[in-house]
Amino acid sequence: MHFGLTDEQEMIVSTVRSFVENEIYPHEALVERTGEVPAEIAQDIKQKVIDLGFYASNFPESVGGPGLSHLEFALVERELGRGSMALTHFFGRPQNILMACEGEQIDRYLMPAVRGERMDALAMTEPDAGSDVRGMKCTATRDGGDWVVNGSKHFISGADHADFFIVFVATGVDETPRGPKKRITCFLVDRDTPGFEVANGYNSVSHRGYKNCILYFDNCRLPDAQVLGEIDGGFAVMNEWLYATRITVATMAVGRARRVFDHALSYAAERSQFGQPIGKFQGISFQIADMITEIDAADLLTLSSAWRLDQGLPANREIASAKLYASEMLARVTDAALQIHGGMGLMDELPIERFWRDARVERIWDGTSEIQRHIISRELFRPLGA
Ligand SMILES: Cc1cc2nc3c(=O)[nH]c(=O)nc-3n(C[C@H](O)[C@H](O)[C@H](O)COP(=O)(O)OP(=O)(O)OC[C@H]3O[C@@H](n4cnc5c(N)ncnc54)[C@H](O)[C@@H]3O)c2cc1C
Repeated sequence: MHFGLTDEQEMIVSTVRSFVENEIYPHEALVERTGEVPAEIAQDIKQKVIDLGFYASNFPESVGGPGLSHLEFALVERELGRGSMALTHFFGRPQNILMACEGEQIDRYLMPAVRGERMDALAMTEPDAGSDVRGMKCTATRDGGDWVVNGSKHFISGADHADFFIVFVATGVDETPRGPKKRITCFLVDRDTPGFEVANGYNSVSHRGYKNCILYFDNCRLPDAQVLGEIDGGFAVMNEWLYATRITVATMAVGRARRVFDHALSYAAERSQFGQPIGKFQGISFQIADMITEIDAADLLTLSSAWRLDQGLPANREIASAKLYASEMLARVTDAALQIHGGMGLMDELPIERFWRDARVERIWDGTSEIQRHIISRELFRPLGA
């Protein structure tokens, strides 16, 4: 077993780390204050990432990506996790489900997304269908040769900047011994499609400036050419491509936790009370020890699940464990960091309250902690027939 990084992997880490420190950190205060990423900053970040050769770093060389392994991409995401998500969004990692594009979809969606010419957003969640994706009400019915879509989606991240959308819609129902089961199809929807509207979403306490939107479909007509994968094969493309995004949540949580930890460590060394640095009090030093232990554990769990993907080993449970543990670790670490900073931790003079707020969503999106526990326990019980 070898835990070290190769020279090339070290170079990936240091390149992305310095990009985040030099191109992301300087804009964070502005985004926090205004809740917006100015268009010129977004474009500047995107262009610099393209020039650096890191745009679409989750895509293979065959379609113009840098061809990183899962482990190397996890290292990229870990460093990006240090920065504001509203800004690192423009570091550009299109949904890798676009690899399912076929025929003319390749030139209309996949290649422009990889080149940074068109941005995408992924839409599954609805007001009445969150964890229970199959409970979706957004429906496409046949009319002539087309599909006619009606319904809505909400909480759709990055939809404000998206040129097209990867949308999961119910296209029928199967009667099964366990009751009716909806068939799901994945569609590619251009922003300017008649009958489709992108509306402002809600304000979230986490990741200010990284917006979520509501999508409305009102008799929106889509030809078969817009189907990604097979008709009724939405779950197949979802399962083939989307599991890896949970590693992204885990790796970003680890990166952010390391940044928060550095703040807590320095503060504990510098802040004096009762005539000595607070880090000398066991009540503080033991918190510091627990924080770094948990961060290292989450880091290893996360990188090892990415490594399993590279080896072609089963990784579903391990990815769920990494997402669960890393997102919950981040909550504990940001809370402890805030406690170590005392009252100043709550003030927006320092970034600690932001890290604390930002951490909250990680336990909810891309499958809540409860859903990850469900995935993990099902994998353990299934072979026992329980
Ligand atoms: C800021 C933000 C951005 C998002 N971006 C996107 C996006 O870009 N695209 C997209 O499609 N979605 C997106 N989501 C949606 C996100 O994935 C869902 O919020 C998440 O899957 C949970 O769904 P829900 O919020 O409807 O909660 P619900 O599913 O209603 O869950 C409510 C509670 O019940 C629990 N629960 C539900 N089922 C079970 C069960 N079987 N066992 C135990 N407990 C259960 C949940 O864990 C949770 O605690 C985003 C969400 C947020 C908050």
